[in-house]
Amino acid sequence: MKLDLLAIAAHPDDVELTCGGTLLKMARLGYKTGILDLTQGEMGTRGTPETRAEEAACAAKILRVSWRNTLGVPDSDVQPTRQHKLRLAQVIRELRPHTVILPYWEARHPDHYHASTLGYEACFLAGLKQLPIGGEPHRPFKILYSTSYATVRPTFVVDITSEFDVRRKAILAYGSQFRPKAHQKRSKVFLAIDRLEDEMNQLARHYGQMIGVEYGEPFLQKELLAVDDVTKLPVRSI
Ligand SMILES: [Zn+2]
Repeated sequence: MKLDLLAIAAHPDDVELTCGGTLLKMARLGYKTGILDLTQGEMGTRGTPETRAEEAACAAKILRVSWRNTLGVPDSDVQPTRQHKLRLAQVIRELRPHTVILPYWEARHPDHYHASTLGYEACFLAGLKQLPIGGEPHRPFKILYSTSYATVRPTFVVDITSEFDVRRKAILAYGSQFRPKAHQKRSKVFLAIDRLEDEMNQLARHYGQMIGVEYGEPFLQKELLAVDDVTKLPVRSI
């Protein structure tokens, strides 16, 4: 399968929370999109790997994703090891994505920043002919970093106003995480995840306002943006 856009993240639901609207928007434009979860999220306080796998499949359908899979890296132990890099490079060769979305490289959760390094290095290695894996060498053209979890100024924001409601549905498909049963909720003093969905919605609103629309998702690219016509640049200055 050849993908136009592949989002890679540490845990199921990371992609929905950080760039789900963008994935849906690209699918609506006719692009083939995919999600690779590095882990099954088995260290999460709530839900089992089985329920989370079902929820992930449901969320993928809602976001019209053409391909979703798990790399099988142990949750809470995402590391840019040679073994993981080769396995990820193999997947990249099979999917041949033009654009890859990775988490930003600084984060509170070690899995998130390691996912960024692992993703970048696997994208690089996938293009090396002599790599001891099968398939034709392939290197994605573009790597974008999702900065929703980070406190860094993004390079650009994608308008997801038309996708926001469906993005919410995809996030809430993770019922074990965001709609826990009452007894589960009571048994815990406080879990950051109880506020996460709300926080991510507020962030989408914040970044949307930054570009003059209702909702947006922020990204960073290391390269500079090239511009041909400076009179057609969007987002009003004053
Ligand atoms: Zn995560």
